[in-house]
Amino acid sequence: MSKNVVTTPVIVPEIPLQSEEVFRRLVDSVRDYAIFLLDPQGYVATWNPGAERFKGYKAHEIIGRHFSVFFTQRDKDVDKPDWELKVAAEVGRFEDEGWRIRKDGSRFWADVIITCIKNDDGKVIGYGNITRDLTERHLAEQRYRLLIEGVTDYAIYSLDPEGNITSWNSGAERIKGYTAEEIVGQHFSRFYTPEDVARGLPQEVLRIAREEGHYEAEGWRVRKDGTHFWSSVVVTPLKDEAGQLTGFSKITRDITERKKLIDEIQRHAQELELRIAESEQTNAELEAFSYSVSHDLRAPLRAVEGFSEALREEYSHVLDDTAQDYLQQVITAASRMNQLVQDLLNYSRLSRTDLPLQEVSAKGVIDRVVADLAPEQKKCVTVKEFDNVRVVGHEATLAQVLTNLVTNGLKFHAPEGACEVVISVTRPKKGWARFSVQDHGIGIAPEHQQRIFQVFERLHGIEEYPGTGVGLAIVKRGTERMEGRYGVQSAVKQGSTFWIELRTAQENK
Ligand code: ADP
Repeated sequence: MSKNVVTTPVIVPEIPLQSEEVFRRLVDSVRDYAIFLLDPQGYVATWNPGAERFKGYKAHEIIGRHFSVFFTQRDKDVDKPDWELKVAAEVGRFEDEGWRIRKDGSRFWADVIITCIKNDDGKVIGYGNITRDLTERHLAEQRYRLLIEGVTDYAIYSLDPEGNITSWNSGAERIKGYTAEEIVGQHFSRFYTPEDVARGLPQEVLRIAREEGHYEAEGWRVRKDGTHFWSSVVVTPLKDEAGQLTGFSKITRDITERKKLIDEIQRHAQELELRIAESEQTNAELEAFSYSVSHDLRAPLRAVEGFSEALREEYSHVLDDTAQDYLQQVITAASRMNQLVQDLLNYSRLSRTDLPLQEVSAKGVIDRVVADLAPEQKKCVTVKEFDNVRVVGHEATLAQVLTNLVTNGLKFHAPEGACEVVISVTRPKKGWARFSVQDHGIGIAPEHQQRIFQVFERLHGIEEYPGTGVGLAIVKRGTERMEGRYGVQSAVKQGSTFWIELRTAQENK
């Protein structure tokens, strides 16, 4: 304690103090509180070091002066000093927070408690005044309040333990439409939809926040004008130093736009799924239809072919040249149709039947494919760079796929060019075997390389190159059903290499 501090409080004669010495020492030792007595009229009667420290007056400067010197002019104009004493006299005590003035004219934020002291007859004999300088805290609170106030993108507000609103920022006003005056004191459940209120959601929110220390959710909320917005909410319980719940802080964001976007995307995704399901259904129906049509066409076709042959064999002597020519055309068309029907049936069968995947020997399949070729075709085929791997596949399907590739390679060469097809099996990457069928034929322009794998896609007229346009569709579907991949590398007039890749069996074990 510094020397120049007054250590002897002046005691008003009427105040009976049992132990004046103890009291004096106690008060003198207090530096964080201004503790002083006022006489019944409000004149300063005692002064302690705390009072001197933050009010700036020494005891001899202030004792005997009216305590209104501590008040701002505005407070003095409305007789606040007298009013404080009056309230204290009436109810025994007066508490206040507000700006007070130091000796040098500067302001400090004071927390003031005035206690009325009466004698045994109930007569006011003075007032005890305890003042704390809370300027720092007040400014910090004010800064914090201004910060929260200024946030407009978030509704930030607080609730008391029961859920009544105790503070409200400008973001809350903007998002929910209420001014602070309108809403402070109201229960926060008014932001919820009637259905949510009926199922007790507001209480549930506070319970979870209280018990789990945090609540976070999204949901519909209601603005003052009755419109709804989709909100993202965080609720945190507020506790005092003793751990007692003092209320909740709530931060709400309006994320209606985001919600609309997500809903829209989900709706599109659902629509898409529905359409895919519908088109799969249509595809399946179409395939079933084409299968049964192809199937049913076979018998009448056989009849057309059989009777045309019989006509040629038994009656050609009575047919003139034109009739013979017509008959030949019927026979050619019927045979072409037969091929088409057969190919279509093969194609539909590929999706309809079960294809149990097994270990298949690459060598076994290729031997079979080559063996089944016509003798003049065999002459054109070379098997080289052969890795005798075992793959996961379906033997008959793999043979069918490779046969289609090989016969295409043999077919699509320039009229003057020699037929030459090279089959190879390699392992381009771990776990996969690649079957390649290479030719030096007419090649395929890049823009057609995708579509030729669709049914009936052909790049040439039937007179130029015979065919049905189903072969590569079988390659595509067959490979997919064996869980493999397919592709083509080709350049016009230089030839093509068609390939399919299947998993190797060894690595899958
Ligand atoms: P198809 O051979 O019966 O015409 P595909 O489905 O097997 O039917 O082939 C579709 C089309 O792809 C062929 O008509 C042809 O235009 C082209 N194509 C297929 N293989 C080759 C190839 N090796 N070289 C050039 N073009 C090819």
